Amino acid sequence: MSNENVVGILSKLISCKSLTPEDDGCQKYIADYLEKLGFEIEIKKNDDVINLIARYGKSSPVFAYAGHTDVVPTGDLDKWKSNPFELTEINSKLYGRGTSDMKGSVACILISIKDFINSNKDFKGSIIVILTSDEEGPAQNGIKKLVKDGDLTKHNIDMCLIGEPSSKKILGDTIKNGRRGSLSGKIIVQGIQGHVAYPHNAMNPIHAFSSTLKDLVNKEYDKGNEYFPPTSFQISNLNSGVGASNIIPGQLDMDFNFRYSTETTCEELMKSIAEIMDASNLKYTIDWHHSGDPYLTEKKELLNSCVKATKDILGIMPNISTDGGTSDGRFIAKICDQVIEFGLINESIHKINEYTTENDLKNTTKVYTQILKNIFS
Ligand SMILES: [Zn+2]
Repeated sequence: MSNENVVGILSKLISCKSLTPEDDGCQKYIADYLEKLGFEIEIKKNDDVINLIARYGKSSPVFAYAGHTDVVPTGDLDKWKSNPFELTEINSKLYGRGTSDMKGSVACILISIKDFINSNKDFKGSIIVILTSDEEGPAQNGIKKLVKDGDLTKHNIDMCLIGEPSSKKILGDTIKNGRRGSLSGKIIVQGIQGHVAYPHNAMNPIHAFSSTLKDLVNKEYDKGNEYFPPTSFQISNLNSGVGASNIIPGQLDMDFNFRYSTETTCEELMKSIAEIMDASNLKYTIDWHHSGDPYLTEKKELLNSCVKATKDILGIMPNISTDGGTSDGRFIAKICDQVIEFGLINESIHKINEYTTENDLKNTTKVYTQILKNIFS
């Protein structure tokens, strides 16, 4: 299999066992490829994470493509149709861990850039490729740190396309122009353990917390807006009790998460929760973990280029959306006011038997090439 077509490149990338935060040679391969096209290569290592910043051109506008080379674990190998680290075609589907999320997209952008540069030698502007091996894990030493350390500032990026798998059912049906913020918390409610037959000597935290729980769930945190659904509060874990049927538990733990819109802030949400909890007279503690602010791209140049390319190449009018989980877009949005996500179909990502198709890879490549043409014409 030739490494110069999109399937060949994907095959090479899939054969690297880049379980997060490993890169296992992906970025070396990509850097060599881009260097041959005339890119300047910068490697930034942060602990066990490897990041690549490759730039072609010196002038503006500056278009960046951002992505990741790491993948999530395979899960039970026996349930895979084939070796997840060997791109395998079965019934027109290409199986392998990372095919859709997101080595497939990386392979597409490499071909697109080559095609574009070869036929537009003197285009005015610059192309930057930013890759990290730390997106699927804690995501502390990847794009987040590059932004924080100012490694990207000097590049004055005007717009950034993130190749995350944004499509839902068919390629091109969804482009993301923002993401909700994510805020998690853990509440521990203190009770007094005792015998169920002597409740006056105990304090049952499940009973004490029940009405407060209802208040937390029923509260309207905001109404959302044109781009975002209303902020959602979701409980992920609720635990109390020691397993015995004759013991009143001494403690209740609850984990929850907000996916929040641009109509509220992390601080406002923390305040709302504190108000509800404080009104309850419960003895409690709360720990917060904020993993990302919401962002929204309202400036239209990149988005329009992507919508137009999708319509022209795929014949589809994409839905513009902000749903789904967080991505590295939340970090890049701090230094760049146009960030969108467009990539392959996300139906099989993180699952056993993750796959894509040669057709989708070829079409994504065409769309990416057309985006470059639209931007630099
Ligand atoms: Zn991804």
